[in-house]
Amino acid sequence: MARALTDSPAVLKGVGPKKLQALNKLGINTIEDLLTYYPFRYEDLTVKQLSDVADGEKVVLKGVIAAPPVVSHFGRAKTRLNFGLLVENDLVKVTFFNQGYLAKRLSTGQEVAVYGKYDQRRQSLTGMKVMYQAKDEDLAGVYRASKEITAKTIKDLVSLAYANYHDLIFDIVPDSLRQKFRLETRSQMIHDMHFPVTLAQGKAARRSAIFEEFFKFQLRIQLLKQKHRKENGIIIKYDNDKLRQFIKQLPFELTGAQKRVVNEICRDLHRPEHMNRLLQGDVGSGKTVVAALAMYAAITAGYQTVLMAPTEILAQQHAQKLAQLFETISEVNVALLTSSVTRNQKAKQTLLDNLASGEINLLIGTHAVIQDNVNFKKLGLVVTDEQHRFGVGQRQALRQKGDFPDALAMTATPIPRTLAITTYGEMDVSIIDELPKGRQTIKTNWLRQKQFTQALDFMEQQLQNGSQAYVISPLIAESEMLDLQNATEIYEKLKAHYAGRYEVGLLHGQLTSEQKDEVMDHFKAGELDILVSTTVIEVGVDVPNATVMVILDADRFGLAQLHQLRGRVGRGSKQSYCLLVADPKSEYGIERMKTMVETTDGFVIAQKDLELRGPGDVLGKKQSGLPDFKIGDPVSDFNILQVAQLEVAKLLTDEKFRYRQENAGLMRYLNQELTYFTSFD
Ligand code: ADP
Ligand code: MG
Repeated sequence: MARALTDSPAVLKGVGPKKLQALNKLGINTIEDLLTYYPFRYEDLTVKQLSDVADGEKVVLKGVIAAPPVVSHFGRAKTRLNFGLLVENDLVKVTFFNQGYLAKRLSTGQEVAVYGKYDQRRQSLTGMKVMYQAKDEDLAGVYRASKEITAKTIKDLVSLAYANYHDLIFDIVPDSLRQKFRLETRSQMIHDMHFPVTLAQGKAARRSAIFEEFFKFQLRIQLLKQKHRKENGIIIKYDNDKLRQFIKQLPFELTGAQKRVVNEICRDLHRPEHMNRLLQGDVGSGKTVVAALAMYAAITAGYQTVLMAPTEILAQQHAQKLAQLFETISEVNVALLTSSVTRNQKAKQTLLDNLASGEINLLIGTHAVIQDNVNFKKLGLVVTDEQHRFGVGQRQALRQKGDFPDALAMTATPIPRTLAITTYGEMDVSIIDELPKGRQTIKTNWLRQKQFTQALDFMEQQLQNGSQAYVISPLIAESEMLDLQNATEIYEKLKAHYAGRYEVGLLHGQLTSEQKDEVMDHFKAGELDILVSTTVIEVGVDVPNATVMVILDADRFGLAQLHQLRGRVGRGSKQSYCLLVADPKSEYGIERMKTMVETTDGFVIAQKDLELRGPGDVLGKKQSGLPDFKIGDPVSDFNILQVAQLEVAKLLTDEKFRYRQENAGLMRYLNQELTYFTSFD
């Protein structure tokens, strides 16, 4: 039978059912998988000069055995083997634990190389391996193994697979690009990833492998984008005059950035292609009105629209705002659908009927809007607010409510530029990079716990001026009960402190949505001066009269969350303040507090967050759809990622790329791996 890279590893000598199963468990199902099962690190087995070795470093030292090895016993059946190794003119004390059998193989005067961990102060080496054939330069790949299969076996199988199949490895990255960026052929690259002799070789192979990985990734998402564009979307012929009229009667003038993104969105709506756009804007930048305009545009063209928000409070608030905004426009019919609404069977049925008949054309809700019984007559646009709070599946479900409606996703969690490519690669991005006029920068201060009374005094000053304040209680190890206990304690404390002068309210996750709404309504109406809350307040809440945000134990929150919380104030024209109360124990905690004090720019904060925590944590892997790269790191290898993006874009604009000789391997790869895309050809 003809060999192919898609062969099962079972064809290799020594791979029986058991080993095959073990390999499968590691995700290795083909020879190709095995060949690209790269070591996750390399041991440097290069012989080192003693003077170059750092304390604690794992190294290979080469020398002459100075005296016969001595084996001593200790504990239960434990042994220690000692000998002196003369390295140049220095005597290094070598110790091996539980490898007494080595004694027979080692004798005085013998030259050996020993791999082990070096202790500088004692000038001793805890031996890990005796190397009988040390080379001048040598690296050994270390493989991720499992209980069922050892790293050594994997290494041997890779070696065997390479020997038997390397002639079948073909280049995916086109020649011209390989030359332009000095990349290795795929066969060379795979070889050197597994068996580099020099560090330089290992590095060159890695660079090539990272490029290949990002190149493939970019091909996938850019082809996907292309395919989506060709799918039949809907042309939303909105009424431009009505839209203009509506903008004119808004209580404020749109910022330049808002105008720009509204134009971008409207242009998309009008196109026959499908819109898949992300609207990014810092907290308070005015995304809601942009969404409202987009929805209104769709409505003027006779379509229905839906806005999905992550929490009831937020959905409620959007419903209030939008109802107000469209109060005088009879064409727009706003309705709210949350689980608290659906509890009333009759009201719910009426709502669903009116939705199915097309009577309601602007639906707002929580994930309740993606339930099966929610049917639209003619859905043209779906909007998700705080989209990062939804899973990919939920967003998808929303879009399946209609016949390929246009989609607008909003987020206030700025994605650092370095992550945007990978996270939202398949979306077009609009950015609101300007705050409404008259906003003052929020002043942020960091206080220690013992300065808490200062925070109370400061709050009082602000309350005297008629402002309102939030106090966020600390987040405790994800335990809602403890959170509640804590929030209640703080609430009681503040109530006592401000008794007879100011009204204090309490908001937490254990309240029913009706209760939450009630508390929020009181706060909005100014009947409460201070709102003590757990982080349920986090997203989107808009009370412009609130000017103080006190965050207790602020170091327990991540930067993105702190930024979101802080964004609850500074929404009106009054100067606003954020007080972080924290005694951070860790360096990261201190760094986070400092960052918050220094900047209010969400993008700077996001970048800092990324540096401190890494991409997985910043985005939350599951929700972000952040691809799992095997070798490349979208942050530290960002330059390569960017180059790959650019080159793939260039490649795809060439209408004949499929037929060019140098892309033969690439096409073979595409046809093989991405059957999904063969239809586009
Ligand atoms: P976010 O982008 O955080 O969702 P919102 O849409 O809630 O922000 O807007 C924050 C506040 O700014 C709201 O009270 C909104 O009415 C107001 N706003 C929005 N756009 C403007 C503008 N161009 N000028 C003045 N105020 C605006
Ligand atoms: Mg918002």
